[in-house]
Amino acid sequence: MVSPPDLLLSCLGLSPEHSRSRPHGLYSPLAKVADPPIPLPASANCIFCNPTRAGGFRIVHEDNSFIAFYDRSPAARVHLLVVPRVHIANVKTLRSRRQGEGKGDGNDDDAKLIKQMHAFGQLAIDIAARELQHDTDKGAGCASIETRAKMRPGQERYADEVGIPGARRFGFHIPPFRSVDHLHLHCLLLPFVSPLKALKYHVTLPSHELGIQHYKGYSWFVQWRQCVDILVHGGKVGVRPC
Ligand SMILES: [Zn+2]
Ligand SMILES: [Zn+2]
Repeated sequence: MVSPPDLLLSCLGLSPEHSRSRPHGLYSPLAKVADPPIPLPASANCIFCNPTRAGGFRIVHEDNSFIAFYDRSPAARVHLLVVPRVHIANVKTLRSRRQGEGKGDGNDDDAKLIKQMHAFGQLAIDIAARELQHDTDKGAGCASIETRAKMRPGQERYADEVGIPGARRFGFHIPPFRSVDHLHLHCLLLPFVSPLKALKYHVTLPSHELGIQHYKGYSWFVQWRQCVDILVHGGKVGVRPC
């Protein structure tokens, strides 16, 4: 069986060796247990606060707000991470309206941030896909390993986005199932490289058995639109159904 830390090694833009040799500090496992999950300020200890080519990141695209780079342990044919330049700890710290946080006007809408990260990720995948030379013949074979047949009416909203040449999946790991405490969107151009990798990015659909509106079930991964729906309805993202 695969332990959660090993399962999530590809949350890094850096190699597993690098991640394991990170200095202890604000982000050490012990500190995570002891400290409440509050957003931490940008820190020299945060490897995603200033990703650079000189620092070993394969950057695909960047602007004033976001940076996209290759995940060093790709789970799919193309696997990128999009990070905001501003340090935001993780998906659990997002709110429908962020209040008085950071240097904004106090009305930053985190759902809007997620939509912007997704749009940026789409663009970055377009760029990365163009760098691939032999993917145009595989369009029909690029559906997710997971079957669409499991979708019930109304759940297509959370299906993979079928583009050219393949389906795309965008989402976040949910604490404690993540390895770098700087919000990073996984951007995947399918197919996955293995069923085990697919499991790490599994989209869990909501059930409505209790008559409560949920946007996802128990999961360690939240698809980007699930995340937006949870936030705009005033919820918070967590491992439990929400
Ligand atoms: Zn991750
Ligand atoms: Zn950071």
